[in-house]
Amino acid sequence: MTRLAPCPLSPAMDRDPAATPDPLADLPDHHGFAQRLSLALATGADTVAVLNVRIDGFRSIEILLGRDGADGFLHGLAARLAQVIGTRGMLARGSGASFLIRLDQSAKGTADLLAQDIRAALRHPIATCAGSAHATASIGIARAAPGRGDDRPVAETLIRQAAIAAVAARTAGGNRRVRHTPAMDAHLTRQSTIVQALRQGLGNGEFTLAFQPKFALPNDSDPDTEDAFRLIGTEALLRWCSPELGRVGPAEFIPIAEKTGMIGDIDDYVMRAFARQLGRWHAAGHTVPASINLSPHSFEDEAMASRLLGLLERERVAATAVTVEITETALLAMSRHTIANFERLKAAGVEISVDDFGTGYSSLGYLRNSTVSEIKIDRSLVLPLPCALSDQATPDVAGSEAILRAILTLGRALGLRVVAEGVETREQMTWLRREGCRTIQGFLAGRAVAPELFERLHLSHRPGSQPSQVA
Ligand code: C2E
Ligand code: MG
Ligand code: MG
Repeated sequence: MTRLAPCPLSPAMDRDPAATPDPLADLPDHHGFAQRLSLALATGADTVAVLNVRIDGFRSIEILLGRDGADGFLHGLAARLAQVIGTRGMLARGSGASFLIRLDQSAKGTADLLAQDIRAALRHPIATCAGSAHATASIGIARAAPGRGDDRPVAETLIRQAAIAAVAARTAGGNRRVRHTPAMDAHLTRQSTIVQALRQGLGNGEFTLAFQPKFALPNDSDPDTEDAFRLIGTEALLRWCSPELGRVGPAEFIPIAEKTGMIGDIDDYVMRAFARQLGRWHAAGHTVPASINLSPHSFEDEAMASRLLGLLERERVAATAVTVEITETALLAMSRHTIANFERLKAAGVEISVDDFGTGYSSLGYLRNSTVSEIKIDRSLVLPLPCALSDQATPDVAGSEAILRAILTLGRALGLRVVAEGVETREQMTWLRREGCRTIQGFLAGRAVAPELFERLHLSHRPGSQPSQVA
């Protein structure tokens, strides 16, 4: 028979706080754990590893079972962990929905084996008075180095390393064990530095926009213009030069900004700078169509579309000259606000482009209903195309070619503009052109440059049809 994990009666349960420092799970808390670990390490005891067991998606368990049910769940979980650990080590509560384990050397088996046993024990649901629930865990492992004297990490370092490894396990998708490595510390330090520098950077005007040209390829029927590209648009790409960190690429800082909630301020800056620059160009007669990248998080803000449209209007930029790029994965979780923003933009004449197409889980159904005007093939698919030196069709090349052909066919069938990103070589361009791709972006045709340089290179000598040349 399943034993129900108790739901706590009330916060003021009659317990002796000295005997049970954490009234929830009758276990030592972080502080108690650190003290005992410290003592064990100082007296040369045989601790070999610390494990941090973080419950994945605990928030959804709280929503499912309610606050009391979730507390009961943690009781049940603690009991199950204690059973699995047995005499192998010691269990304690960590912060939030996490547990700490000290694995002793005298124990049979390794930390990996213990982690494996914990994951096996979690395969069965935990019953509480509010219902039962399943959980998976991200398990971080930090190993002590017995016998290495002074090199042996102190208790807090071991606990921290196990927590860092657990975060790495969760970032990798959860439901797995990850051992701590020194590279993780470097990564985390870099991330924390970026978080701090981002906050300052926004206030200090350290961000700028660069513009990359987007070109139409000539038709096969016109061999004389083989090298001629016709500018059909530009994409605004964010650049950050921090006095402390130097140049940091958006591929590194945008995900951090998304995780820490700073993306709203960043996208806001991008919208304002984008509208201002387009306003200047349009006023000077350069009515080049332009794309802006916005994070899926910003689409969750119900006022986003109105804000962008308001900024464009203020700068006297026609909404029809603007395309908003959003990554493919954002189409998966189409919330009410995201759909409303899409529709508002579409109604005003803004085009929607699906960025990095071919790398995420696409909601192909959404491509059908005419909200999307453009798909941009991710450059990871363009990269393996054959180059002049090696003409052999390796499996990588053959696979990419098949996917590219399928995307081009899909685009044609749905009447979408298909842009190939990251085109760096003539061979890639020739292949794409032969397969019917009409629009490219990439270093071959032009890099992202500051607006003044973009104007000089691509706009000033542009009597509408004069081609740019392959560099
Ligand atoms: P994306 O929108 O797919 O942008 C294309 C990226 O590929 C840009 O990198 C561009 O510089 C790079 N690229 C273009 N042509 C080539 C090529 O031929 N070869 C190679 N190797 N790379 C090429 P970047 O500027 O580092 O941006 C990376 C990503 O960061 C962007 O991917 C976009 O998802 C995001 N991002 C950039 N600017 C913004 C922004 O203003 N707001 C938001 N939310 N995201 C942005
Ligand atoms: Mg883009
Ligand atoms: Mg892209």
